[in-house]
Amino acid sequence: MKIIFDKKYFEVYDHTPAGDAGRLEPAYKTLKGDSQYEFVNPKSAPLEALERAHSMNQIEYIKKNNHSFKIKLYDIARLAAGGAILCADIAKSGNPAFGLIRPPGHHASYDSCWGFCYFNNIAVSLLHLRETSECKRAFILDFDLHVGDGNINILEPLKDYEILNPHANTEDSYLKKVKERLENAQDCDIIVASAGFDQGVDDWGNLLSPDAYFLIGTMMKEFAEKRCNGRRYALLEGGYNFKKMAINIKSFCDGFG
Ligand SMILES: [Zn+2]
Repeated sequence: MKIIFDKKYFEVYDHTPAGDAGRLEPAYKTLKGDSQYEFVNPKSAPLEALERAHSMNQIEYIKKNNHSFKIKLYDIARLAAGGAILCADIAKSGNPAFGLIRPPGHHASYDSCWGFCYFNNIAVSLLHLRETSECKRAFILDFDLHVGDGNINILEPLKDYEILNPHANTEDSYLKKVKERLENAQDCDIIVASAGFDQGVDDWGNLLSPDAYFLIGTMMKEFAEKRCNGRRYALLEGGYNFKKMAINIKSFCDGFG
């Protein structure tokens, strides 16, 4: 399976927990150590791709919002959105892809953003597919601890998108909810994940084990093979226990790929 990644994602770009030093290194090392994963470098998202999901006002705001780190926030946010687009382009022909990208995106709406997010990577990539391919309808599983309000604000009014943000008090009931919703999902052309790992055991949500992430990956793979010609990709969102996140990302990818 392809892992979309650029070493620029290691760079600190803001003062949030998502932009912190050392966040992606353990996940990078863990996936690098397994030869079934092939790393591919993305390009920056073109402006026209950003404009499908965001106002010019929002794009200009990110451009001006500079924290004087070595890498500009605008440049890294555009590279994350570009990573999402590359995942989508790989997935549209039936191959899985995981975007080991940052900043995350699911709290970015058309004209605003919060929660460590700037551009909505899921929306930018799905609207790119909608414009350039036969993939029009998507099922979005957002298994981050937090509800992806940006995904909902941008995509739900467009009607072609079904979004699930599962909520449960135990791992078993969480997995059961995911399973049931997938079984009853509307027809779609692709399934994607807002893949946050802050719901993991020893992370902020403290609920899901590595086995649970493996099962979520497997359920998405089976869904894709049965319902949408294998088309699937996942983009990193939250996750703040960096070492545990590495294990959970690997478990998810082992099931998903
Ligand atoms: Zn989160």
